[in-house]
Amino acid sequence: MLAENLKFIKPGEVRTRIAPSPTGSLHLGTARAALFNYLFAKKNEGFFVLRIEDTDKERSSLEFEKDILESLKWLGLGWDEFYRQSERIDIYKKYIEKLLEENKSYYCFCSEEELASQKQYQMSQGIAPHYTGKCANLSIKTIEENLNQNKPKVIRFRTIEKKITFNDLVRGKIEFDTGLMGDIVIAKNIDRPLYNLAVAVDDFEMKISHVIRGEDHISNTPKQILLQEALGFPKPLYAHLPLILGPDRAKLSKRHGATSVSDLKQEGYLPEALINFMAFLGWNPGEKEEREIYSLASLIKEFSLEKVQKQGAVFNIKKLNFLNGFYLRQKPIEKITELSLPYLIESGLIEVEFTTQQIPPAYGGIEPKQIYKSSQNGKEISFEYLKRIISIYYERIKILSEVPELVDFFFKQEITYEKDLLKWKEMTEEEVKHSLEKSKKVLSEIKDKEWTKENLEKSLLKEAEQTFPNNRGELLWPLRVALTGKEASASPFEVAELLTKEKTLKRIEQAQNLLENA
Ligand code: GLU
Repeated sequence: MLAENLKFIKPGEVRTRIAPSPTGSLHLGTARAALFNYLFAKKNEGFFVLRIEDTDKERSSLEFEKDILESLKWLGLGWDEFYRQSERIDIYKKYIEKLLEENKSYYCFCSEEELASQKQYQMSQGIAPHYTGKCANLSIKTIEENLNQNKPKVIRFRTIEKKITFNDLVRGKIEFDTGLMGDIVIAKNIDRPLYNLAVAVDDFEMKISHVIRGEDHISNTPKQILLQEALGFPKPLYAHLPLILGPDRAKLSKRHGATSVSDLKQEGYLPEALINFMAFLGWNPGEKEEREIYSLASLIKEFSLEKVQKQGAVFNIKKLNFLNGFYLRQKPIEKITELSLPYLIESGLIEVEFTTQQIPPAYGGIEPKQIYKSSQNGKEISFEYLKRIISIYYERIKILSEVPELVDFFFKQEITYEKDLLKWKEMTEEEVKHSLEKSKKVLSEIKDKEWTKENLEKSLLKEAEQTFPNNRGELLWPLRVALTGKEASASPFEVAELLTKEKTLKRIEQAQNLLENA
């Protein structure tokens, strides 16, 4: 179904594009734009094009391109067509030559110093900096001489002074006066196009119907429209998405934390969670709609450009963590354990011996069926045991990179913590000692065979009722801290069961020593 304002475009004719420059990893803002383009194309039975804008040779790299492609795939945003601008130089050349032949463009030989002082002068006069047109009317002879002498040059487009208006699908009518723009540089040479020219040509050649991109590109739009007009191209429809802001409402940047998809992936966010999260960065299904959980498939159904907001979209990490926890819990324990493996290995808690020649990549690709080794004592740790550990943390895990910190005490020989942590509320040290002694006694009476969390709970609660009738925390808190060394953890019954009787009793003694030696 096509939205109301797109009546004139038939299904299947909707073509959107994401056009990242491979000058960095895939940024969250670009990923959000990719998502909106993808959703809009799929909703309208159209096509989603990926175009790598790598005309800036110095700043582009294949490594970043790889990151962009992998990140998009990981998010599930597959593309229908793929282009790389560096492979299309002949196409741009044809159009640059055409503009030169028709005298809509010209060679400019002004030096950088000259342009810099001109800019300074204009600014000192309170005028917006622009090119004054010194080379706009050079004689053919001068141009040829300069070209023959290989003088440094660029190609400028003759900006036509007029009002440019376009109807942005998000922001409504936008008007620009090109009078202040000056003649813009569109290429360094006929085989070295720059951004605005390459975009105008490609959006036409690739039959892009809707240009959906970040608001930071609004000021490029009139330049691209002028180029389209000069080359006789039809105008695509534009939708400029609101900026993504940090919690301080400044434009989201590295100083706010991880901002690239690959960094967020490494931190342990799931693609489903990021998709759901990014959809709400500037889009909302409606004021009254309280639903927050959307899969990619349901977003395709619900998405519309009419519901994209104008005002900046604040990146709320709490919401992302909530969504990630939600999507993690949709997975079986087996899967969550498998996803946690790289983090457990990287944090040095466990080791893995690879049976194959090939070393798997640091993230993902680890076979869960192997036996692992404790990094501390070389003892074998089975996947099954890891699964049981993860299962008692099932409700608590929000991001995978937190896993090692939550469960490290299972793998360590010795744990360290402040002795005051052993005190529950107002307990005195004597009371803590008494409490630990009680726990030790109760636990040492439980046989190895009966060492299950149910039995542990039964015995410990019985003891708590007798010794600390008003506050079972006085028994359970010191025990739990003795086992984990942490302020928060799973229950002492679950923890003790997995630690084994031997290690549980050892940890209680360790806590007792800590108190004795103080
Ligand atoms: N290459 C531009 C960028 O990475 C995007 C261009 C566009 O969407 O028009 O910001």
